[in-house]
Amino acid sequence: MSLQVELVSPEEVVLTTTASMVLVRTTDGDIAFQPGHVPFVGVLLPERVRIYGDDGDTQLIAVHSGFVEVSGDKVAILSDVAELAGDIDTDRATAAAERARAALVEDPDDTEAAAALKRAEVRLTVAAGTAI
Ligand code: ATP
Repeated sequence: MSLQVELVSPEEVVLTTTASMVLVRTTDGDIAFQPGHVPFVGVLLPERVRIYGDDGDTQLIAVHSGFVEVSGDKVAILSDVAELAGDIDTDRATAAAERARAALVEDPDDTEAAAALKRAEVRLTVAAGTAI
């Protein structure tokens, strides 16, 4: 049995695939969904989503916000900002990380800069395939 996974942004269906397991980070912590999971709705934190494909491949996606809903064997990820690994511009993310780090040196309490740094770090680890 497989999970039917759909990743949707306001503009488009970013990805549909089947999976044996989907790993997300929510405000309730890291959760791994497998077929048969009880219905669940959670708020996603900026983090990689790891999809363990039926074919044995894993896929990493940078997901920066949104919701995950599990119902039956369907996993729906609804996100305003999400990028597949291959769509990430690493130069842009590196520049964003540098800007955010500089802002945090100026003001360690700059929450916008801390959030921007987190987004950039997620993008870089997803693009490199090193996200845990
Ligand atoms: P930047 O400072 O480089 O704009 P950001 O974290 O502020 O980065 P967001 O506001 O999270 O950017 O995203 C704005 C749009 O740009 C979204 O559609 C997002 O998918 C896209 N985006 C941002 N950074 C990258 C990147 N490094 N590679 C690909 N798309 C990106």
